[in-house]
Amino acid sequence: QKVDNPYLNAQGYVNPEWKAKAESVAGGNRVSNNPTAVWIDRIAAINGTPDSSSNGAMGVRDHLDEALEQGANYIQFVIYNLPGRDCAALASNGELGPDELPRYKAEYIDPIAAIQGDPKYASLRIINIIEIDSLPNLVTNTSGQPGGTAMCDTVKANGAYVNGVGYALNKLGAIGNVYNYIDAAHHGWIGWDSNFSPTAQILKDAAVASGSTVNNVHGFIVNTANYSALKEPNFKVTDSVNGTSVRQSKWVDWNFYVDELSFAQAFRNELVSKGFDPKIGMLIDTSRNGWGGTARPAGPGPMTSVDAYVDGGRVDRRIHLGNWCNQAGAGLGERPTAAPEPGIDAYVWVKPPGESDGSSKEIPNNEGKGFDRMCDPTYTGNARNGNSMSGALPDAPISGAWFPAQFAQLMQNAYPPL
Ligand code: BGC
Repeated sequence: QKVDNPYLNAQGYVNPEWKAKAESVAGGNRVSNNPTAVWIDRIAAINGTPDSSSNGAMGVRDHLDEALEQGANYIQFVIYNLPGRDCAALASNGELGPDELPRYKAEYIDPIAAIQGDPKYASLRIINIIEIDSLPNLVTNTSGQPGGTAMCDTVKANGAYVNGVGYALNKLGAIGNVYNYIDAAHHGWIGWDSNFSPTAQILKDAAVASGSTVNNVHGFIVNTANYSALKEPNFKVTDSVNGTSVRQSKWVDWNFYVDELSFAQAFRNELVSKGFDPKIGMLIDTSRNGWGGTARPAGPGPMTSVDAYVDGGRVDRRIHLGNWCNQAGAGLGERPTAAPEPGIDAYVWVKPPGESDGSSKEIPNNEGKGFDRMCDPTYTGNARNGNSMSGALPDAPISGAWFPAQFAQLMQNAYPPL
């Protein structure tokens, strides 16, 4: 009874809490009617978190009731509370320790499933985005890798991520009107052969863990809360300059993809080859990958060297592809759109634009949010970003908290422009 593409011919739920924040910034009403995802980022968020910096007083049931009220056809939730969450970074560590899988199941997934399964909501297409930035870390950020962490080793060894995701998929996927999309990183993370197929494999392992099957997976999302450009119009991965491939440029650094659309389509095929349903669809988070504004190159760079060609033409203006926190110069990307390209179910705004990725300095808080130096504009980097500057905006609040200066910049640099 599930439809092939839940976004098609469907009106998305507008989160009133995000809308109010967006409208608190001058000009925000130009975009505040777009659907954004509701992040269930801790157990308390199931009932609402009036005291947290992110989200607000509305709980899962309140959002579903409001969606019915709006006459919406679909609503998007982010399932985001794995044991040992965000194992390779510090800005979004969660409340559950690496051994707390039983609590994840009983106190987090089960109550969410009970609410989503209420027949009152049977007319809504409930879309769950499953566990951002989790499984790919088991491939790229464990021992022996540049930047591998002890926490990623732990959650790999104890199965917390694989079994947690399997449990969530199985429990939520059993509901007739629920659609699960698992997070699948982005091209700047797994676009190399060393990571591409192993990540697809670990996604498959998780999909069949804890009694789940691949049928509980409707698709995958790429670029969640990231900044990778949707399309690089001024160069292709097959281009070369004086006989040297652009893959050898500093920016591309041997990646096989230069943008998210080409990556998402290729990764879809890889997932199908691992055993996922050939009808799976991809989502691309376009909330912050517009890269418009005055710094957007008007055409290709000069053919003097691969670096000059790529750096002169690329619309993604980050200092390094591995930079992920509150990127200076970013803009809103494509507005949420259903079925924009083959294999793509929708462009979506899953990271709500204007919500911080992490604080630029240490800010004491009781929400478990740490300080990751990738959010500090003075940081000179580490192995995971080629020892480059972080490119982060200054004066950011903790992750999830409203960051008006970022939202203003995202509107200013929107592409397509507002
Ligand atoms: C934060 C969450 C927040 C989400 C959406 C994450 O980085 O850790 O608390 O809900 O972003 O802004």
